[in-house]
Formats: sequence, C-alpha cells, structure tokens
Amino acid sequence: MTQPNLKVCHLYGNLLNTYGDNGNLLVLSYLAKKRQINMDIEIVSIYEEFDPKKYDFVFFGGGQDYEQVVVSRDIQSKKQALIDYIENDGVLLAICGGFQFLGEYYIGAKGEKIMGIHALPHYTISQENNRFIGDIEIYNEEFDETYYGFENHNGMTFLGKGERPLGIVKKGNGNNDQDNTEGVRYKNVFGSYFHGPLLARNENLAKRLLDLIVTKKQEKLS
Ligand code: GLN
Repeated sequence: MTQPNLKVCHLYGNLLNTYGDNGNLLVLSYLAKKRQINMDIEIVSIYEEFDPKKYDFVFFGGGQDYEQVVVSRDIQSKKQALIDYIENDGVLLAICGGFQFLGEYYIGAKGEKIMGIHALPHYTISQENNRFIGDIEIYNEEFDETYYGFENHNGMTFLGKGERPLGIVKKGNGNNDQDNTEGVRYKNVFGSYFHGPLLARNENLAKRLLDLIVTKKQEKLS
C-alpha cells in the first residue's frame, strides 16, 4: 500500500523549543522514514492561522516564561481551532510549556498569570524559588509501559475532570510532587513534563504515537 505523507504542525516551534524538544519530531520523522512515510513539518507561529483540518499531528514544545507570555497573547486567536482539532481526535503531543498552555493558566515564576486555551481543565501554579529538575520515571497503566526521562520545570500542574495522567510517578516529581501524576492523556492528546526529548528515550511510546497518527490519517483518506 502507498504510504501517506503526514502533515505535521510544530506549534510556535520558533519560540517554544527548549531543551531539544524538537528532537521528538526528529525521532518521529526517522521512524516514519523507515516505514517509507514522509513527514512535512511546518511551524505555525504568531500571527499565523492554525487550520485544524490540515494536520495529522501537532507538536507543542516548552519554553521559558518570557516566550510563554508572548505565545499566550497570540494563542487566544487559535484557541477554538485547537480545541476543534483536539475534540475531533487529532493527535497532539505537548511538552512542558505546551502542556501548560492546553490548560486554564500558568502562574509564572514572577507571579504573572499566563493564560492557556482551556482545551483541558488542568491549571498550573508556580513554586517559590524552586524547580523540579532531575531524572524521572513513570508507569503508564493504559499501555503497561514505563517511561524514562528528565524534568525541568517551575510549574506545578493539577489535572482536572476527565484527564488521566500519562503515568504514575515512580521516581522524580511529575506534575506537582503531591498526587503522583505525570503529564496528561485525553482523547489523542499526550502531554508531559519530560524534556530531553521524551520520544528519544521511549521508543515504545514513539512507535505507538506514529501508529496512531498513521491510523488516523488512513481513516481520513478512506
Ligand atoms: N516556563 C515553564 C516552567 O518553568 C515551562 C518550562 C519548560 O517548558 N521547561 O514551568
């Protein structure tokens, strides 16, 4: 069967790209290429329209608070389109700042309230003079898999109704160091605080994500 070309959106890829988050896209492109699938990656940034029908996958990375303030102003104009994409079962991976943006708000390290798009009901507050930095290990019950990574964030995120964690923390802090959750799962959304990047260290998750993207694409084409 001829393999489809995948259309990928790297949301604010020129602003939110901390700690090699875009390595997640390199891993996916590499795995796709091995299956003779081509990924067309396009950055959609400030003042540009996000068309929810155009993409097979959206990647949303993390950033410093300053860049998050800039993105926060712009992203409100893309809010409904992103919610439509998610609610129509679009596949999305959000890391750290991107994960925070999917929720209601993030209180930055200087106390500034950075508004999210409220696609999901989580919210993020800041820690005083502290960041969660270090190795992390989580267990994902849905797929019976353990994921390994590195976290580096000030924000403490609390999940809301209808959200499941990406995993239960076995080592490290995770979303908030209180409820043992790390990241988020909702429909075809995967969110995580893992930097470094998540998919390079967790090939099982990378392959799972690619399978999902390809299945959804084939559904669209059939
Ligand atoms: N600025 C956010 C925080 O510190 C996100 C950081 C990041 O993406 N690493 O929580």
